[in-house]
Amino acid sequence: MKAGSPRRKDTLARLQRAAGVLIVAAAACLAYALGALSPLDDALSQQRFRLLSRQPSATLTVVEIDVDSLRAAETWPWSRERFAKAIDNLNRAGAQTVGLDVDFSARSSVAADDALATVIRRWPGQVILPTFVQQAGHGADRRQVATRPLAALAEEAILASVNVPVDADGRVRRYPNGFETVDGLRPSMAATLLGRSPRAASFLIDYGLDAKAINRISFQDVYAGRFDPALVRGKNVLIGSTAIELGDQFATPKRGVLQGVYIHALAYESLLAGRDLRPLGWPFLVMAVILTATFLRPRAKADYGSALRRHVLVLTLALGLPVALQAWAPISVDAAPVLVAQGLSLVWLVRTELKRRADSVIEARETHLRQLADHMRESRDRIRVAHDELAVANAALDRALRARTDFLAMTSHEIRTPLNGVMGMTQVILADPNLPAGVREKVRLAHASGETMLALVNDLLDVAKMESGTISIAKARMDLHSLFDETLALWSDKARAKGLSLYGDRAGTPSLIEEDAGRLRQILFNLLGNAIKFTDKGQVSLTAGVDASDAGDQLVIQVSDSGIGIAPEDIERIFEPFTQADASTTRKHEGTGLGLAICRRLAVAMGGTLVAESEIGSGSVFTVRLPLRAICTKGRQAGAPETLSTASALLVEGNPLARGVMKATLSDRVASLEIAASLAEALSAMALRNYDVLLVEGKVLGGLPDELINNLRHLKKSGAAQRVALMWGGDPGEVAALSEVADLVVQKPISPAELVERLDGLFMTSPAPSAEVYKDILSQPTEEGRAA
Ligand code: ADP
Repeated sequence: MKAGSPRRKDTLARLQRAAGVLIVAAAACLAYALGALSPLDDALSQQRFRLLSRQPSATLTVVEIDVDSLRAAETWPWSRERFAKAIDNLNRAGAQTVGLDVDFSARSSVAADDALATVIRRWPGQVILPTFVQQAGHGADRRQVATRPLAALAEEAILASVNVPVDADGRVRRYPNGFETVDGLRPSMAATLLGRSPRAASFLIDYGLDAKAINRISFQDVYAGRFDPALVRGKNVLIGSTAIELGDQFATPKRGVLQGVYIHALAYESLLAGRDLRPLGWPFLVMAVILTATFLRPRAKADYGSALRRHVLVLTLALGLPVALQAWAPISVDAAPVLVAQGLSLVWLVRTELKRRADSVIEARETHLRQLADHMRESRDRIRVAHDELAVANAALDRALRARTDFLAMTSHEIRTPLNGVMGMTQVILADPNLPAGVREKVRLAHASGETMLALVNDLLDVAKMESGTISIAKARMDLHSLFDETLALWSDKARAKGLSLYGDRAGTPSLIEEDAGRLRQILFNLLGNAIKFTDKGQVSLTAGVDASDAGDQLVIQVSDSGIGIAPEDIERIFEPFTQADASTTRKHEGTGLGLAICRRLAVAMGGTLVAESEIGSGSVFTVRLPLRAICTKGRQAGAPETLSTASALLVEGNPLARGVMKATLSDRVASLEIAASLAEALSAMALRNYDVLLVEGKVLGGLPDELINNLRHLKKSGAAQRVALMWGGDPGEVAALSEVADLVVQKPISPAELVERLDGLFMTSPAPSAEVYKDILSQPTEEGRAA
């Protein structure tokens, strides 16, 4: 298959070339046949006539009815006596034959006609009179009318045809030996002068013969007998008009026109000299054209040198051969078709060459593209391998990161639980009013250190959550104003201690909003803490406002200070974890460099932003923007306690240590606090009275979620608690399920402050349906219950 394909291609190319040869030859022949090439052929034949010019034989003298003769006679047409006298004079001078290219078909005067007839009769066989055929009608009317001399004149004279065929372009090229008339074939004037027998064939006049060199005499000189007899003795004489007014003029292939009499004269000279040219026939022409096209066809392989040589050879032959042939024999060759074939072959050659070049360019491009594609394929494969390796490395890295984060989260969690215990206990001790002052100070220091450590652990836990993407934002109803005031109050001592004025403004913000209170507190606490930490004199302010935009209202909180400021190159860096503007080991301010990183991530997780603007030495402004959802406070239930501080609470906690801590934490925060150590105790307490909030530790209700949920339902069913809050130290994945039965689920471990805040939040939300309503719902058997 593969071996056959180049051969087939070769055959196809050969066939294409053969077809090309035929097309070129056919086009050249067609153009010639349609006469499109005659201007070129005329130009060529003119050159040939010029190159092959010849002198006339001097056996013929033309007697011109020229303008002088017309002027001398004064009248026109002349009396036939005038012609009679001229013919007589010429014959007396010894002329061999006198041919007249003058029409004597119409009658003139009887005397004149007689005079002419007499002269003709006097010189029998020596006077030739013209006959001719002409078209009588117009357009489609192609009637031919033959014109002959008067019978009286024709009787004694020889008759010859003077018809000259005119080509389509109005030129006279050919001359007939004889002319077909109603009386049969009539020899032409030139043939008759030479005494040739009539033949139908015509020939091409040899215009190379110099018409000007033919002897001539003016008619009036002949008429007056004033001419050299040597010019007519033994010669043929042809009388015809040359004066323009007589209009006997013809266009010839040579430049200029020639009078009819000289056309006959040149035809006579052509015949006499054997120069009656014959055109080379179609078979030869077609052959020459095919040979040319074949010889000049584009070759399989490009070779400009040989192509050029072939073209030069053909051009030389096309121009030279007709000249040589015409010089050597009476043959006229039209070279134009050959030249046209050559031109077409040249176009063909150029086209083939251009195509060949285009093909080679395309082939080169294709090769290049193929190489490129191979290269790309290789690159792609390499990238794929690298990608796979990277994926493996990434997976390993992911595992390592997760392990690290898990470790961090677990460690932080494990530290927080005992730390909460320590801090709870120190708080219990501090709550004792009888504590000696020295011990109180020591315990207070221990408590403060614990708080610092807890903050750090909390920060680490947050970072771990952020890295693992498990940070959760729980938006709920919260009191912005309280949070704002609390935060300011928390830092007021510290500010006062540093001699700073602390200023707050929250006018223009709604009090109740929906947001994650704990996270917002974390952000404000951090920013305000930083502002006070990095400011030695002047003021620190915390302001909040609302920015209304098309995208919705935004809560804008700004923390400004007149502190040390931050260099422009650090302004973004400080939001990266473990980064501080002053990284020197001797730095003045404490810190981990985690605060701002956490704050920004929290702000983003809450759907907002945190940005800093600062100038070294002048202070800084930190701006938090959060989407604002204000809550309308209308419709609060009458009689329900508004806050945790007015609520009655029942704490159910089995662990005595935790019970102590919780008691210390909550007793000041609620209106009344009762404590139960078990579920049974709780139920009996609830049988006696109702509570605004029931805070129950998960383990008291049983270890397993299902059991716990059942017990929770049981507790709620009693209807003695308006709100049920569950402290859950088990799997965080269960929180969602537990949330369905409890009003609040608090994930342990949790700091006392955070717990209080969450319980506070519980009072911000609408209270659960009243106990009665709840009871009603539960007493109705459900579909599942019925099925069971
Ligand atoms: P920490 O304060 O624990 O070092 P932060 O992330 O809160 O970590 O802050 C990172 C750094 O940003 C600080 O160490 C301090 O260099 C710079 N910084 C933060 N707040 C301010 C402020 N209000 N004025 C000047 N510098 C500040």
